[in-house]
Amino acid sequence: MQDGARSQEQALAETPTFPYAAGIMPGKECKVLELRDRNAIGAAISELEARLGPRLATGRSFREQHGHTTTWLENQIPDAVAFAESTEEVQEIVRICARHRVPVIPFGTGTSLEGHVNAPLGGISVDVSRMDKVLSLRPEDMDVTVQPGITREALNTELRATGLFFPVDPGANASIGGMAATRASGTTAVRYGTMRDRVLSLEAVLPSGEVMRSASRARKSSAGYDLTRLMIGAEGTLGIITELTLRLAPQPEAVTGAIASFTDIEAACLTAQEVIQLALPVARMEFLDEAAVSYVNRSHGVGLPETPLLLLEFHGSPGSIDEQTEVFAELARDNGAVNVAWSADADERRRLWKARHDFYLAALGLFPGRVGFSTDVCVPVSHLAACVTASRAKLDELGLIGTNVGHVGDGNFHTLVFVDPQDAGNRDRAEAYVGWLNDLAIAHDGTCTGEHGIGQGKMKYLEKELGAGALEMMRAVKQGVDPLNIMNPGKIFSL
Ligand SMILES: Cc1cc2nc3c(=O)[nH]c(=O)nc-3n(C[C@H](O)[C@H](O)[C@H](O)COP(=O)(O)OP(=O)(O)OC[C@H]3O[C@@H](n4cnc5c(N)ncnc54)[C@H](O)[C@@H]3O)c2cc1C
Repeated sequence: MQDGARSQEQALAETPTFPYAAGIMPGKECKVLELRDRNAIGAAISELEARLGPRLATGRSFREQHGHTTTWLENQIPDAVAFAESTEEVQEIVRICARHRVPVIPFGTGTSLEGHVNAPLGGISVDVSRMDKVLSLRPEDMDVTVQPGITREALNTELRATGLFFPVDPGANASIGGMAATRASGTTAVRYGTMRDRVLSLEAVLPSGEVMRSASRARKSSAGYDLTRLMIGAEGTLGIITELTLRLAPQPEAVTGAIASFTDIEAACLTAQEVIQLALPVARMEFLDEAAVSYVNRSHGVGLPETPLLLLEFHGSPGSIDEQTEVFAELARDNGAVNVAWSADADERRRLWKARHDFYLAALGLFPGRVGFSTDVCVPVSHLAACVTASRAKLDELGLIGTNVGHVGDGNFHTLVFVDPQDAGNRDRAEAYVGWLNDLAIAHDGTCTGEHGIGQGKMKYLEKELGAGALEMMRAVKQGVDPLNIMNPGKIFSL
């Protein structure tokens, strides 16, 4: 096993690059932690090499790309990366690994934020990015069946001519399989729901190598346990998703973007809460605090007033979105908004949303040498104002550089803390902040993770949030489906 063997580099030249791994944590140490059994891993790699040839990559750069994390969690790299091209191949890979009791870590595009694709016990990363086809499109039923490696942007490009689109948008150009595995959502969930609402059925290879299909294409079903929802959010710990059937939405006839600037966080959050209470069908409703607005001004030159901001999008017929924007403007002004504006101009809208979507990487670029740590709490919308206001005060009390942005229509907000990894005190204070915030959300009947998932980073909060009974049931499911604990071990909870 030569690192970076040339023939392998050539054979894998089509492998996508990992933009989120590059430039964020330069020089971050990559480690293979305690391996289960080196001989077993060596034997599994020999069998996989015989089966996959150059599509079994053992070069260090491939392994580092696949064990990377986007935050300060340490990289724990797998022993090899298997590039699968079909369900049958995934089955064979899993069977070989099961025979040797070697961990299997499913991999989509590697944009997850909580150490999900790390290999704490070593093992084989199974990269499904080459399984990226649309298998069958049925506009008459408004659904589509895809392979897991297709990215949401590639899927929407393929759907463009149909008048339909796939609306879940986590910002990053993630794979549909990875999005299902993390129960992802993002800016559009307030109108179109999360992956939980958009996946009708799926096929997965279980840790035994058997294939499981979770449901039919019917829009509703009372047939037995809801295995689709069990797999969505399982973070690859129960199997590798190899096909998904998705509900599509009609492309909106007209789209308008709106912004409203407020004098304080509370007014912005209260406006978001009233939008939801009035059932105004906003397609997106994002909050940026003062610091976040100043970062997007600096990185994208959008020239927004540097006060708390709501950024919205309305979808519908021209008449209905005019009505929606007017109702929103009235609500915002009633809550003291100092600047309310809207535009149907596509370029203007794209410019603002690009600034929002690029926010994470752009803001990091403003703090060279620091790493970004993104929290992900979600609370009932009526608790939002109190939680975001308290968060700002806590950041200031701890002397941390940080900012709050959020998909506030769902009560979901992210504090991005910029941490100096060389400064132990700074890192300790950031960790204290994260613990405090997760506890705050749980105390407000919320969750420590609205959309990123538990991975490794949030394991310690799960029992606090759900209680021992829920953890016991999760462990029982895991042990029943994966008795050898080979499927993405060391994630969500310890056994
Ligand atoms: C800048 C930025 C912004 C983001 N914003 C959001 C946001 O707004 N909302 C949001 O929800 N997330 C967000 N994320 C997080 C991330 O994009 C999501 O978690 C995404 O769903 C991960 O998809 P992926 O293809 O990258 O999966 P990966 O990172 O490759 O994998 C994630 C998890 O899914 C498992 N997995 C992957 N593929 C499969 C499969 N086929 N079968 C079974 N398990 C599988 C992996 O084992 C792992 O546990 C953001 C990330 C970044 C970097």
